[in-house]
Amino acid sequence: KSVVHWFKQDLRTKDNTALHKASEKAKRDGVPLIGLYLVSPQDFEAHLTSRVRVDFILRTLQVLQEDLAQLDIPLYVETVEKRKKIPSRILELCKRWEANHLYANMEYEVDELRREALLVRKGAEIGISVNVLHDTCIVEPGRLKTGVGNQFSVYSPWYRAFVAFLHSHPNHLKIHPAPSQNPGFTRTKFKPLFEMAIPDAPISKALNDEEKHRYRALWPVGEQEACERLAKFLTKRVNNYKDKRNLPAEDGTSMLSVHFASGSISARTAIAAAQEVNSSPKLDAGIQGIMTWISEVAWRDFYKHVLAHWPFVCMNKCFKPEYTNIRWEYNDDQFEAWKAGRTGYPLVDAGMRQALATGYMHNRVRMVVASFLAKDLLVDWRLGEQYFMELLIDGDFASNNGGWGFSSSAGVDPQPYFRVFNPTLQSEKFDPEGHYIRKWVPELKEIKGKAIHDPYGKGASITAKRNGYPEPIVEHKFARNRALSRYKEGLGRD
Ligand code: FAD
Repeated sequence: KSVVHWFKQDLRTKDNTALHKASEKAKRDGVPLIGLYLVSPQDFEAHLTSRVRVDFILRTLQVLQEDLAQLDIPLYVETVEKRKKIPSRILELCKRWEANHLYANMEYEVDELRREALLVRKGAEIGISVNVLHDTCIVEPGRLKTGVGNQFSVYSPWYRAFVAFLHSHPNHLKIHPAPSQNPGFTRTKFKPLFEMAIPDAPISKALNDEEKHRYRALWPVGEQEACERLAKFLTKRVNNYKDKRNLPAEDGTSMLSVHFASGSISARTAIAAAQEVNSSPKLDAGIQGIMTWISEVAWRDFYKHVLAHWPFVCMNKCFKPEYTNIRWEYNDDQFEAWKAGRTGYPLVDAGMRQALATGYMHNRVRMVVASFLAKDLLVDWRLGEQYFMELLIDGDFASNNGGWGFSSSAGVDPQPYFRVFNPTLQSEKFDPEGHYIRKWVPELKEIKGKAIHDPYGKGASITAKRNGYPEPIVEHKFARNRALSRYKEGLGRD
């Protein structure tokens, strides 16, 4: 007999709700706990998982396997070519290991919820109890309601409710310990499982050698690494977070999104640790930098709540249906220029190139490049949303969809559509010295002063041209007016 935990985007041993419950069950029954992970190439394709993220996940699995082995827990990893077969394959493995209890943490995306529901049903038919638990959000979706009992669609009142809820339910920030050591006989009984190799990435998702070298140096993996990164951020940088978080040239943010996305650390652990450093037991009092950071981590929960309540956002639909009728431009050349970081707008180009080189882009710049695509270029924001998933190492459906909804005005954000970021002013404000631009756009390195933000408009055109930097592919003032009239027309407000 045994108990099985199915790992998904929760690749850690500590503060993993379902793993903890599975371990307790195994301990009570005096049987071993087995970890399971199924690599699903079709899921990678369907979710547009970036190659760098696939690599990050597979490397994290390697470390997780080692961490679990310390506890005598095997991690069985197998590639399942057809995603439809996943539930039946899991149940087959449970039968093989004589497991009547399977545990997993819930994922709120539509396909995943359906798959888990099927697994629960099929499991029940053959006497396997499948326990799918809330874990990834600090407060589970559906818990927080407006005064009249609805789901919040606006962040600020939602956040007030989130804070009030956690103050009255402090157990929600309680951290589960890592699982207990498996019984001594496990290693002999399940020897082959301890020798499982982590598979290579599917061919379509494999990195070349140069990329492996580059990304692996930038993004070390594992739970230990995530905890150290959190601790360093909380001791060194969090105090300045409020002032520096919007400045892409500064090392001002935690860079933990990649770990939250693969689950090598939980958001609960992050907030609980931040609270320990805070001078107040309240989430909305004490050190300013910590309060601000906690409220940012909460955005992750917020967007998952939105997704769980309005699942149609998973189906390529706008949160605000009236935004479906905008006449987009679909100009392929401009879309390609945006992807390559060759729009002639230095901050936009720096952001796109940062993402191409590292798999990551600073949050402020994500907002600027997304607004530029949806408003200045009038390219359907969903194409940008998809491209981000193919590019980012921290690609997370809910946060990405939420971010694109915010920038295109088609999402939950209550701001009206006429907020259009001016990419040059954003650049002057958030990268005033141009350090971020110079780092990622070497063609502009020699340009001094304000001209860095607008080389062709502010007297640096000769240098920019000589170095092969493109002229702006669209004029912002014209683009802004065009966007306003197209949005107005799409919304039927002529
Ligand atoms: P920190 O500033 O240290 O914040 C801590 C954590 O809070 C982050 O790791 C993240 O989990 C959460 N967080 C902060 N801001 C946001 C936010 N606006 N929305 C949701 N969570 C937030 N984040 C992703 O994790 N995956 C994505 O695919 C993603 N796509 C985005 C697309 C667009 C168009 C935009 C505007 C934002 C997107 N974000 C996404 C949110 C945000 O840009 C990143 O979470 C952040 O840049 C990660 O850096 P960090 O870990 O240093 O953040």
